[in-house]
Amino acid sequence: MHENMKQDQRDFASGFEISTTVDLRIMETTDLHVHLHPYDYYADCPNPDLGLSRLSELVDIARQQVPNSLLFDNGDFLQGTPVGDFFAYDSSATRGDPHPVMEAMNALRYDAITLGNHEFNYGLDFLKQSIAQAKFPVVSANILSHQGGVPLSDRHLVPPYQLLRRTVTDRAGRAHPICIGVIGVAPPQITVWEHQALRGHIQTRDMVEAVRAWVPQMREAGADLVILLAHSGIGPIRHTENMENAVIPLAMIDGVDLILSGHSHQLFPSRAFADIPGVDIERGTVCGKPTVMSGFFGSHLGLIDLKLVRSGGSWDVLDAAVSTRSLREAARRFVPSEPEQRRAPLDSPKVRKIVERAHQAVLESIRQPIGKTKTPINSFFVYLGQSAATGVVAQAQQEFVARHLKGTEFEHLPLLSAVSPSKAGGLAGARNFTDIAAGVLTLRSLADLYIYPNRVAATRLTGAELCLWLERAASAYNQVHPDIAEQYLMDSGFPGYNFEIIYGLNYEIDLSVPARYSPSGEEIHPDVSRIRRVTWHDQPLDLDAEFVLCTNSFRANGAGGFAGTGSDRIVFEHSAITRDILRDFVAERAHVDVTAQTPFKLQPVAGASAILRTSVAAHAHLDMVSDFAPEVLGVDQRGFMRLKVTL
Ligand code: MN
Ligand code: MG
Repeated sequence: MHENMKQDQRDFASGFEISTTVDLRIMETTDLHVHLHPYDYYADCPNPDLGLSRLSELVDIARQQVPNSLLFDNGDFLQGTPVGDFFAYDSSATRGDPHPVMEAMNALRYDAITLGNHEFNYGLDFLKQSIAQAKFPVVSANILSHQGGVPLSDRHLVPPYQLLRRTVTDRAGRAHPICIGVIGVAPPQITVWEHQALRGHIQTRDMVEAVRAWVPQMREAGADLVILLAHSGIGPIRHTENMENAVIPLAMIDGVDLILSGHSHQLFPSRAFADIPGVDIERGTVCGKPTVMSGFFGSHLGLIDLKLVRSGGSWDVLDAAVSTRSLREAARRFVPSEPEQRRAPLDSPKVRKIVERAHQAVLESIRQPIGKTKTPINSFFVYLGQSAATGVVAQAQQEFVARHLKGTEFEHLPLLSAVSPSKAGGLAGARNFTDIAAGVLTLRSLADLYIYPNRVAATRLTGAELCLWLERAASAYNQVHPDIAEQYLMDSGFPGYNFEIIYGLNYEIDLSVPARYSPSGEEIHPDVSRIRRVTWHDQPLDLDAEFVLCTNSFRANGAGGFAGTGSDRIVFEHSAITRDILRDFVAERAHVDVTAQTPFKLQPVAGASAILRTSVAAHAHLDMVSDFAPEVLGVDQRGFMRLKVTL
């Protein structure tokens, strides 16, 4: 019966073309940021949940499962680990060597890639040299060497789009030619973010404007399918000129069939995008267009499985299934009792060999001295107001922002610097403290100092908002009652990364009153204030005065719900990550010499003593807090040293 039907179809087809079904898998990597080897270079230890070398095996598996597939990368591949820095800066060691990212992508037979904003971090020459090694097309429709009056008269750094002529096999095993158009875009802010490296050699155009102009050209030139490599996240619904995260307006463009997204280091489909009009996280679509975003650092492979039908002379997308596969889950699927078997399928020897060479060279380099510190840098006593760990970061980011605000309208506003401790015990455990000895500093030491891959940003806010900012941070403490001994000092539910200290002010914290905010930021006692005697340059803080506050992009955009944050308050954002700024800060001087004294003091509470849970390693540094008459009470079950302090 079945055979007869096939026969009928063939007979029928001899008259005119019948519909034909083709399964085509589109694979995405994005925001690799030079994560090749499964390794965390800042912690100097393996991290099996990331890296292209392991992800390459997921690519191989995904390829074997289907008759037709294509592999794309969505940008931000050249910068982000010490491996990237090494190949960009240490040319004596790498002269003539191909860039390991390009070499790995060639080995993996990528079909096309687009450029992300971080491709420009090391300047144009380095980017050109690197992509010249690619054996696949590199496309970008809105990064320009010369901007014309209209998009079609622009001159581009790389071709705006490419037509990939491929042969696909249908469900009956027959081969068909197909022409797949690939176009790329990246945030136009590149020219602002990378102003120093690019020195005006590059112009950019709005992403929506560029795609809208070029897609009809691609169709005209024969594209059966148009894939948009958008190095851009899923953001506002409404198109505004030069918007950074433009996937929704991009999805509304006629002729775009599917979108590979990125830049915002998220996963799509995922719950993070539920409840956005036009976004369907069950089907993985944005405005009906299949869309995928596959995490960052090689954490995930993104898949769009298309069912295409050919009818008449054209191909139509009949159905699409969107998914992401993570390295972490892939590792779990293999039998853990057989470690070799677990490793083997996730280690692509070809890619591993390329990556291994770069890896070894870089390991040597991150263990090399980059500077020195005169004094130990630790976070053991940050809640008592003693911490060089926060002081170093505050000073480094303030110097960086001050340099960049020169010549802007914000140059003359008073500049302050907010920092929270990266590692200060808490839920992450008794080892979660910064502990750097006096002497040599390496790149690895900086990881101990600043664990988040944040960027520097600055917001504009009033004196009154600064006080609220500090109130939110001061809610990290429990209320301390007079004449009671050994009360726990810290609220264990309050995350240390929200304990913001503002350098540039001086202030005191009164722990005898309750916290104004809950650990998650609700105002529970609006009439209460723990923050006292706030001064700026030895004068009481003017609540109406305006300030610029250095912080990180995460905080500036509103994370933690601090007063005076949000996109309308941001006066400065830079693509350099805070750790890179720290590295330069350390390397620029003969030695780092930052005091442990923070800008705040705890006010005495009559007759009270408290218990601080700190690191056992703090024992050797008790002289830092001699004002509190510290007394070691022993080590608790979780490994924290219990330190009694008199307030
Ligand atoms: Mn990125
Ligand atoms: Mg990016």
